[in-house]
Amino acid sequence: MWQSIRPAAAVMPEGDGFPPDQAVRRIAERFAAAGISGRKLEWHELARYRGEKFIAGWEFRIQFSDRTRRLRLLIPENAPWVFSRIALDDAPPFLTWPHVEKDGLLCLRPNSWTVDPSLPEEAALDELGRATELIERLITNGGDADFRNEFRSYWDHICDHKAGPIFSVAVPGPPSRQVHVWRGQQFSLIADSPQGIDQWLRARFPDITQKQMVIERAGLIWLNNPPVPAEFPDSIAKLKELAAQNKTDLFQMLDGHQGTDGGEFLVIFGAESTSGIGFIGVSISRNTSKFGNQSIEKGFRKGKVPKALMANRTLNGRVVPRTVDRADAAWVHGRDQDSRQMVLQKAHVAVLGCGSVGGQVAELLASAGVGSLLLVDPERLTWSNVGRHVLGAEFVELSKAESIARQLGKRFPHIRQIEARRESWQGVVRASAGTLAHCNLIVSTMGDWSSECQLNTWHSEEIPDVPILYGWTEAYCCAGHAVVIRPEGGCFQCGFSRNGRVLFPVARWPEGATIRREPACGADFQPYGPIELAHVCATIAEFALDCLLEAPERSTHRVWSGAERLLIATGGQWTEQWAELTGGSVLGSRQLQRNWETASDCPICGKKPDA
Ligand SMILES: [Zn+2]
Repeated sequence: MWQSIRPAAAVMPEGDGFPPDQAVRRIAERFAAAGISGRKLEWHELARYRGEKFIAGWEFRIQFSDRTRRLRLLIPENAPWVFSRIALDDAPPFLTWPHVEKDGLLCLRPNSWTVDPSLPEEAALDELGRATELIERLITNGGDADFRNEFRSYWDHICDHKAGPIFSVAVPGPPSRQVHVWRGQQFSLIADSPQGIDQWLRARFPDITQKQMVIERAGLIWLNNPPVPAEFPDSIAKLKELAAQNKTDLFQMLDGHQGTDGGEFLVIFGAESTSGIGFIGVSISRNTSKFGNQSIEKGFRKGKVPKALMANRTLNGRVVPRTVDRADAAWVHGRDQDSRQMVLQKAHVAVLGCGSVGGQVAELLASAGVGSLLLVDPERLTWSNVGRHVLGAEFVELSKAESIARQLGKRFPHIRQIEARRESWQGVVRASAGTLAHCNLIVSTMGDWSSECQLNTWHSEEIPDVPILYGWTEAYCCAGHAVVIRPEGGCFQCGFSRNGRVLFPVARWPEGATIRREPACGADFQPYGPIELAHVCATIAEFALDCLLEAPERSTHRVWSGAERLLIATGGQWTEQWAELTGGSVLGSRQLQRNWETASDCPICGKKPDA
């Protein structure tokens, strides 16, 4: 009874055939050898499954503790590189059991699992075993626990996807409360306060007008337990029931707010399951003139209906299930799983110098979840910056600091604060010394010796407790440095000669200087590529993150060296100091850390009484 099945339309070569046909044949032979017999499925039976195309399949009758059920093994056209599927042919109504799709296909594994394409027959046998175990477990224990764990994905099945998604930046936790909503054409946004919505929208859409900024009230009901499908709030009655079960007065939440006729009221429900915190939502259309067939003011004189009752009566329309996606910082940065977010969200970091290094460091810090950034740079972007800078052609002639702030705001609209100053750091301090003093970390990527000397002097005199991280590259980006200055250990200038030559260089060029000059007076630059630069920026940003999480107690120097072939190609050599620190093994790209020591002849530390 077992035979290989070939798609009718395909022209088959002689021999073993195409891999999908081989897989079908091997699965058939394996099942026959195991003594499992089934009925071969007809083409019209295979075509019943809409989401996926199957080239062969068999139906088995399997005895469970309650009765016999029909399971189908289905071989996808992409076999043996994907798992075979199992469908329950006589499945109970949809959403009675978890892991059973509308057409009866079973979800037996997370999508991260991978198949061994050399053994399709063993995978298929294993699949059937898993399906049998799952169904027996559902018969015995029911599916409530699994439904609750993944309540969001089951809710998605009944959602009206034409209505557009709802994004939430509301705090993902109790209590039940009134929240606020903005309705856009593509999506709606929920936040705890109107200010929260205002800030998010202005970051995401810098050109939004006040007129487009209509914010209304909405409700958030926190559920003690994630709902199973039978409890889903997809009607007014079930909505009220779920609210009451969770001790929430829906109408108090409405605050007597009557809304507009034909308008809608939005309620979202939050719950924590074993797979995380999620939201589901409904919109309820409102009718302010009638409830049922009755006048909205029935039993009262005109205008005398009590507010709560009025709100209750107007909440009488159709309930539309909606998807709610979290867009809050904890979700965006690490899906609630990044334990560093508690610290990073609260961190305030200043980046002084938003050139090719500082711009990328700022971007990495924002991506990592740093909640507040101050970007300081007096310069505008030029065409010669474009190849290595995070900003592109559209920002030429515009302020680097302001443009980066605008771009990062659009990318991370939930960011707590992002401020740009189109001036020097000295200007920022002159305006208010506290601006930098209140930072958890200052990153200096100005790459300008005199500015950084001034910063170092001011730092050691005024705010020695605030860590400053200096970052720079060596010529051709063959190496990069990140030094954090702490009250213990050397100051920034301790590691340099009086005219700004670093005392611990990684590379040197015996043939001479690497600084090039643009055909303009005093316009020096270092030639290097954006890819080498990315390593240096990552080294600086990584150290910045480490400092925010736990700043080292003494001044520390982190050094990154690039590939030796780049160094040789540019006529350079490793320095003796670097060769010594690395034990002579410097072939590959690497990162090392060392103390940044006090120098007895440092113009700053030499003056200190204890030096
Ligand atoms: Zn010093």
